[in-house]
Amino acid sequence: MTKAHQRDYYEVLGVTRTAAADEIKSAYRKAALKWHPDRDPENKSEAEVKFRECTEAYSVLSDAQKRQVYDTYGHAGLSGMGGGQGFDNTVFQDFHDIFGDFFGFEDLFGGGGRRGRSRTQRGSDLRYDMSLTFDEAAAGVTTKIKLPRQEYCQECKGTGAKKGTGVQTCEACKGRGQLAYQQGFFTITRTCATCQGAGQIVRERCPECRGQGRLEREKTIELRIPPGVDTGTRLRVAGEGEPGPNGGPAGDLYVVLEVKEHPFFERRGADLYCTIPLSIAQATLGTELQLPGLNGEEKLKIPEGTQSGAVFRLKGRGLADPRGGGKGDLYYHVRVLTPTKLTREQRKLIEQLGAMLKVENKPADRNSSIFDKVKDIFG
Ligand SMILES: [Zn+2]
Ligand SMILES: [Zn+2]
Repeated sequence: MTKAHQRDYYEVLGVTRTAAADEIKSAYRKAALKWHPDRDPENKSEAEVKFRECTEAYSVLSDAQKRQVYDTYGHAGLSGMGGGQGFDNTVFQDFHDIFGDFFGFEDLFGGGGRRGRSRTQRGSDLRYDMSLTFDEAAAGVTTKIKLPRQEYCQECKGTGAKKGTGVQTCEACKGRGQLAYQQGFFTITRTCATCQGAGQIVRERCPECRGQGRLEREKTIELRIPPGVDTGTRLRVAGEGEPGPNGGPAGDLYVVLEVKEHPFFERRGADLYCTIPLSIAQATLGTELQLPGLNGEEKLKIPEGTQSGAVFRLKGRGLADPRGGGKGDLYYHVRVLTPTKLTREQRKLIEQLGAMLKVENKPADRNSSIFDKVKDIFG
């Protein structure tokens, strides 16, 4: 693995090699406020890299011993020191001194404080939520999605300043990034609204990005959705996330699917279930039904003497497994409908039938065959 170019720590903080400790502290404070990722959630990954970079620089230059090693041997000299390349978490104690408690910086560094080491960093992953009809999900679909993405402004290299104009110190806060108010006994510090805490403002805005330092571009991506996807399925599109800061590789795009429910098919994985009502006569005498299936009509033969609650399985007539593992089954669950409104004549017939058909009303044997539910239909 080639080691990425590491910027000079003095250059990172914008101070001279002879800068005094408080000058370094003030420069770092300004840089950290400017690049704190919470300040610009739209452009978080870029800010995180910058923030870590200046924090690392500060952690070395604020420590007299490390600074001396760095001055003499450069980056290489620090690699043998405790805490790994001169960057360790003791710097966070200094953070509290400088900023108080208002940043969650430990979170930012995941406690370990080492992730910011490499100069080129992978871009953020993006998430795109997509809704599909049941039929689209069942059959699979190729579609195009339009993705708004933040891209770096090449014109101003992300600074937001017009080429050759640079930046100037914010007059409202004199470059401190914050304004202090006296309120009774307390001094309240607020982020400067003029410069949004950066301490600097651009003289002339970059015409390309109107001073934003980044541009919103829309990209169209063709997406092939395999058959059988379900709500919660995540499709990964490699390299279509945000571009990496400083030329790092792009992140991935994750398309998270939501599949609308079918009016009568209930889905369990790749299997489908639905309920079919049967009349007493159909259940008793048997019948042949044309039923809606996933791909057109299915023929289902109801045998004589079918019990209410019986389930018929049509193997392989369910949904596809999107990972290519064959097909699910289609289940028809039959329910015998007991008539609720009878004419006088119908009542009479049922009464006659009832007198002839006797059922013993005692608890059924648990292993009784009338409760065998699933019947396979091969066809
Ligand atoms: Zn620009
Ligand atoms: Zn300001």
